[in-house]
Amino acid sequence: MNDSPETCVTITADALAAFAGAIFRAAGCDAAESERIALSLVSANLAGHDSHGVVRVPRYVHVLGLGQVRAGQSLTVVHDAAAHALVDGNFGFGQTIAPLAVDLGIAKAKSSGVSVIGLRNAGHIGRVGEWAERAAAAGLISIHFVNVFNGELVAPFGGVDRRFSTNPFCVGVPMAEGPPLLLDFATSVVAEGKVLVASHGGKKVPDDAMIEPDGRLSSDPRTLYGPIEGTDERNPSAGPGALRAFGGHKGSGLAFMCEILAGCLTGGGTSGPAEHGPGRRIANGMLSIYVTPGAFVAAAFADAAREYCTYVKASRPAEAGVEVLLPGEPERRTRALRLKNGIPLQHRTWEAIVATARNLGVNAPARTP
Ligand code: NAD
Repeated sequence: MNDSPETCVTITADALAAFAGAIFRAAGCDAAESERIALSLVSANLAGHDSHGVVRVPRYVHVLGLGQVRAGQSLTVVHDAAAHALVDGNFGFGQTIAPLAVDLGIAKAKSSGVSVIGLRNAGHIGRVGEWAERAAAAGLISIHFVNVFNGELVAPFGGVDRRFSTNPFCVGVPMAEGPPLLLDFATSVVAEGKVLVASHGGKKVPDDAMIEPDGRLSSDPRTLYGPIEGTDERNPSAGPGALRAFGGHKGSGLAFMCEILAGCLTGGGTSGPAEHGPGRRIANGMLSIYVTPGAFVAAAFADAAREYCTYVKASRPAEAGVEVLLPGEPERRTRALRLKNGIPLQHRTWEAIVATARNLGVNAPARTP
């Protein structure tokens, strides 16, 4: 995003989390859940994924008000076995449901070596990397295929009609020394939230991020949201076009498999065809695989992975002065910077959060920089 002071409000992570937490408490969540949601959103901003940060606060409050996501939920175990389980999130907040599902996967992998957890009907689980980091902190490799029930936004390779959601794929690998490797991306050219941020005046999305019904490529947020002049409302169902899958037929194929594994195999349902109207629920499904390195070649793995990382980073840069980064490095660097300098938010994003707060009788922090 454009982080220049002219276009941004800058706020510390602590102040932002406290403000967001107060909003969720006023919206009806208990203190623990409010804090969990707020910290999770702020951690996405800290990682540099503003698309999954506090820009979501107004939308979360809106869907809570509509009853599409529910406060105070827990997991229902639909099916349980030694090394796998199917769990239902009961449309609870993803920030409450996802850690419970991850902790179940961790416990099962620790006793069985590996585990597979199917999660369905979770509210928006946000930055999937957060859940891989949770598994990595417990010493586990994890692989996550995610879809969004009712969240059809992305055209398949060769098509213009929406058939997938932005279906993130994520792999986390703990390292014996140092932070985990973390690959975590949407299978669309950009996550929907990046179009949302762009529509608020933030960083423009690439020219090939979206496709119009006639096949023209587009970077215009109106392709996804329809007319946005004079309104802060952003309804991703309202636009005539679609996001595009990344990487041609390969990214499209990965997105497709996210639907099959996270949507069909969990029973949560695929992204479409989308239902409309106030009762419409959007929910994440996630198929996660947890692996204990010790179940394979623990010590040898740690050495081989460390050496291989060094080897990859030693590749001569394609562009002078731009080093080769490992998955997870950009997020760590942004986190360090933003913890030090504060989190920059587009004015429109900040104003939308403040308006949501005001409607709930919550004051914005006294000094908005
Ligand atoms: P992105 O395009 O920024 O890609 C991020 C990944 O690429 C990270 O693993 C990062 O470490 C790596 N990376 C970035 N620059 C790199 C470089 N120069 N060298 C090496 N590796 C590099 O991510 P995105 O597609 O915009 O996704 C953003 C977030 O949105 C993710 O956290 C994802 O989980 C989340 N998301 C969630 C949902 C949901 O339904 N919950 C849906 C879509 C996306």
